Amino acid sequence: GVEPGFAPRGEPRLTVVSGPSGVGKSSVIDELRDKAPEIYFSVSVTTRPSRPGEVDGVHYHFVDVDEFQRMVAAGEMLEYAHYAGNYYGTPREPVERALAAGRPAVLEIELQGARQVRASMPEARLVMLLPPSWEALVDRLVGRRTEDEEVVRRRLDTAKRELDARTEFDAAVVNADVRSAADELVRLIVGPGAS
Ligand code: 5GP
Repeated sequence: GVEPGFAPRGEPRLTVVSGPSGVGKSSVIDELRDKAPEIYFSVSVTTRPSRPGEVDGVHYHFVDVDEFQRMVAAGEMLEYAHYAGNYYGTPREPVERALAAGRPAVLEIELQGARQVRASMPEARLVMLLPPSWEALVDRLVGRRTEDEEVVRRRLDTAKRELDARTEFDAAVVNADVRSAADELVRLIVGPGAS
């Protein structure tokens, strides 16, 4: 049977994927890229500096604060947020173009942005990626070996708040195994019968 919340096949939709820091979002999204090339993955704009290996225009569009604020003022962002000291936002136009062209679109964004999408696009589906357990998430966050205890404590607080928001989401996918989690996401995003 078709589960509630599934879009009929052939009706492209916007899916937001969120989840606490340390849950393994990037690995699952990378796996999803391989499994479902028909999906359009939004490329966010950010003011944070690029990390080694990140390519401008592929992982993010890296801009300065002035350019970011210009885009917000011009109404070019579908949603945006200030997170961990930097701005992040989704350019509206490419997402609308993908949906109009019949492609499902995915935004991998944090909680404040997910809430904005919920408010402005009620037809969007919100999916939260969950750790197999709280202990597993703590291991991931503490295992990153930062020297600063205060930083770890703040990360755990943020993770707890993000997990508490799971009830605002339409679906949850547990990331116990990257490939199974990606399979489950394909079914949610593309519809039953896919993958
Ligand atoms: P990072 O700096 O580690 O790449 O990302 C930090 C957080 O920002 C992650 O939770 C990621 O999902 C989120 N993020 C990335 N792009 C966007 C965006 O366009 N909008 C919002 N609201 N969050 C984003």
